[in-house]
Amino acid sequence: MNTLEEIISENRKYLDRGEVASYIPELKKANKNALGLYITTLNGEEYFAGDYDTKFTIQSISKIITLALAIMDNGKDYVFSKVGMEPTTEAFNSIIDLELKNLNKPLNPMINAGAIATVSMIKGKDKNEVFNRILEFTKKLCGNENLKVDESVYTSENRTGNRNRALAYFMKSTGIIEKDVEEVLYAYFKQCSIEVTCKDLSRIATVFANEGVLPWNEERVIPKEIARIVKTIMATCGMYDASGEFAVNIGLPSKSGVGGGILAVAPGKMGIGIVGPSLDKKGNSIGGVEVLKDLSEKFDLNIF
Ligand code: GLU
Repeated sequence: MNTLEEIISENRKYLDRGEVASYIPELKKANKNALGLYITTLNGEEYFAGDYDTKFTIQSISKIITLALAIMDNGKDYVFSKVGMEPTTEAFNSIIDLELKNLNKPLNPMINAGAIATVSMIKGKDKNEVFNRILEFTKKLCGNENLKVDESVYTSENRTGNRNRALAYFMKSTGIIEKDVEEVLYAYFKQCSIEVTCKDLSRIATVFANEGVLPWNEERVIPKEIARIVKTIMATCGMYDASGEFAVNIGLPSKSGVGGGILAVAPGKMGIGIVGPSLDKKGNSIGGVEVLKDLSEKFDLNIF
């Protein structure tokens, strides 16, 4: 067995200790036993192991894409006048921080409130144009023309997303969100429902590892400064309220999603995509975090 297959099989033991996300009913259908990884290096080598071809929805990992796009559309000063850059100790969908801390603006763009505020700043004449821009940009970052939305996950999120609605209406009341709330939530729920594989995540990660340039054709798609900002926010806020522990143990700018994905960036080296829908209590892939710990140690990837 090769090293990557060994890493996957050694960490399957953790899967039983977690649960698949269930607050979005459609996500309950995910395979709790899946665990896989895909690595794409900056010079185009690809390595994979385990259940790497599992499909899942990108969920919160889309927040790094919309953050890049919102800053490209509006500049960093405007975006960070409406969303903070500080980590939180509360859960990703928490309401409490919003009113109590940081002058009524969401703490950072990786929690739901901050991501909803971020997508509200993406330009477009209507919700369809805004979402199309997000989808086209995501396709470009993975070099995959076939990406599409899992409509059943979208419908499920839209039907049950009352907490996100509460966050969004609160932010509308304070002026953080200027657009129509339902238009903003349409784009947000759709962006979370884009279906991907670990390969897609690893390719998006290579673009950040390469400071905003597509490694496969040298096209610059994100300005260097913005790619750096996004990586920094990933390193400080990307793994929910476990971001500090993750930085200490693994040391890679990463973003997880409740679909079980983790995207990890090894700057100048490679992009890593993980799938493992069994989640720990904070919402991170329980097996995925262990896999990344092993990868980081074995290949000396910790950036700190
Ligand atoms: N669509 C999910 C939500 O809004 C994203 C959560 C996540 O992946 O952290 O609850």
